[in-house]
Amino acid sequence: MADCLMCTQETADENSVVFRDQLWAAEVVAGYDVPGWLILRVRRHAERITGLDQAELATFAQRTQDVVAAVTEVTGAPATYLMVFGEAYPHFHALIAPRGEDVPAEMRAGNILNLRRDHAAPAAAAALVPDLRAAYQRRAHAASAAA
Ligand SMILES: [Zn+2]
Repeated sequence: MADCLMCTQETADENSVVFRDQLWAAEVVAGYDVPGWLILRVRRHAERITGLDQAELATFAQRTQDVVAAVTEVTGAPATYLMVFGEAYPHFHALIAPRGEDVPAEMRAGNILNLRRDHAAPAAAAALVPDLRAAYQRRAHAASAAA
């Protein structure tokens, strides 16, 4: 869908991509480019978790765990949030946001979304992608070797 932000990520710059497989992708998304933040999205336009097919459902948990682990490893954040709203963009996606030590108490939990405005740093967010990619690949390979 041309007006869907998640669909338009299919043509996003390669430098924003942490991984893409047949079903899922994780990328730095403009407008959500606080350093360390990623969006994990289903690649086809499927709306809400109820719109996922069996293959997508079966792989979602592992992809999510691997992306959260990679973000946590690279940022060293004491907490990494996993958020699914489906309000502005029903195309199923999850926002993965590390919450650093420096984030004050009043900006934690749901209020972390306010960091979008004042803490967006596209260059710094992009600079983390190679390390995130490497951390994700290590996780993903370890998981498939154990299977
Ligand atoms: Zn879409």
